Amino acid sequence: MPFDAPSDPDAFREKVRGWLEENCPESMRTPMPEDEVVWGGRREKFKNPDSKVWLERMANEGWTAPTWPKEYGGGGLTREQAKILEQEMARIGARTPLFSFGLWMFGPALIEFGNEEQKKRFLPDIVHGRTRWCQGYSEPGAGSDLAGLQTKCEDKGDHYLINGQKVWTSYANEADWIFCLVRTDNTVKHEGISFILFDMESEGVETRPIKLISGSSPFCETFFSDVKVPKDQLVGEVNGGWKIAKRLLQHERSSISASGFGSTRGTGMLELEEYAKIHVGTDGDGKLLDGDLRGRIADHQMYAKAFNLTVQRSQQQAKAGQEVGHTASIIKYAAAKMNQDKHELMVEALGTEGLGWEGEGFDRGAKMVTRGWLRSKGNSIEGGTSEINLNVVSKRVLGLRDHQ
Ligand SMILES: Cc1cc2nc3c(=O)[nH]c(=O)nc-3n(C[C@H](O)[C@H](O)[C@H](O)COP(=O)(O)OP(=O)(O)OC[C@H]3O[C@@H](n4cnc5c(N)ncnc54)[C@H](O)[C@@H]3O)c2cc1C
Repeated sequence: MPFDAPSDPDAFREKVRGWLEENCPESMRTPMPEDEVVWGGRREKFKNPDSKVWLERMANEGWTAPTWPKEYGGGGLTREQAKILEQEMARIGARTPLFSFGLWMFGPALIEFGNEEQKKRFLPDIVHGRTRWCQGYSEPGAGSDLAGLQTKCEDKGDHYLINGQKVWTSYANEADWIFCLVRTDNTVKHEGISFILFDMESEGVETRPIKLISGSSPFCETFFSDVKVPKDQLVGEVNGGWKIAKRLLQHERSSISASGFGSTRGTGMLELEEYAKIHVGTDGDGKLLDGDLRGRIADHQMYAKAFNLTVQRSQQQAKAGQEVGHTASIIKYAAAKMNQDKHELMVEALGTEGLGWEGEGFDRGAKMVTRGWLRSKGNSIEGGTSEINLNVVSKRVLGLRDHQ
């Protein structure tokens, strides 16, 4: 029977708690190893079969996208109700059922800028994890200066024709569809960009994974040679893609700050202080043995507390209809720093265990921390570098001028 959300917050909490107790499989209440993260899409293998059951149950309620409108498959919850759901999931250590660029970035932008047909066509598949999306923004000559992109999109009457190259396209080789920035007018810069969607299995799309020093290949070079795209897959107006691109980046910055960087939420991993106590030990009063590390963890916790309050304030401002666009840059900058600092502290707490990369000699949790520490180095680059975010803050928030 579909979940009927009571409007009273306490009644809602009680009902959600009962639903989670009944529906969250036991193994979905344990820390999530990296190889059990569910990204959805055609190639998803569900290494742990319970994760398929968990995703289906959550998606059927629309709770993978709790605040999206019900008519597009979302949960139709208010922000307060979504917060309660999140708290109740955290209470039992429930895993995030679906990790998805569609949920975090593309879907919210499509809700704002897509037409009705596009929303009905694409959003429910995102909610259910049936389609995995990748982001075609960066190009070899256009990263920080994104509006300098050159991938060409020509109007051929009954379709568009796309030629060009993207780079650093995360998981392009595993994605089903791409949301892509293309140039539809090369006589102007920002006003000559359009936002278009296409299937990664279209003829003329080629992905070449970039092998990293770690041995993994999370990014690709992505090539488009005479890719034909139906005209109804362009979002918004021709040459009107830049404002969609910017809004999507705000969603990207906010979501990676709020869910990916700032905490271990959704992975079931222990928080920093508990983690350090286990690995470093405690004194008779239950305090962390290493006084210096204890002080730095306390500093980090204060920073994290201030950060979470800032995020909450920005969410309240958004709810009150105030413009928060550039706050996303402040939050993204702070979140990247905070996550990198947290991983430094975790690796330090591990001592020599923190040197583990693979093999039998190190436990799985320790290896996850070490890999997380290295991965965190990318936090100040992805979704706009820290330098670029500081530029946005200095110009748009503080009103400073370019230094000549
Ligand atoms: C983990 C990760 C995932 C990513 N996933 C994707 C993806 O899925 N899709 C996608 O399209 N892209 C993706 N990217 C690419 C990312 O968006 C770009 O790397 C980023 O925008 C920077 O562009 P760039 O690499 O071309 O560096 P550049 O723009 O060449 O910058 C190089 C350095 O110069 C600095 N710099 C540049 N301009 C200025 C300036 N005006 N003032 C001060 N400093 C400046 C930058 O801060 C940086 O330190 C990903 C990157 C990472 C790390």
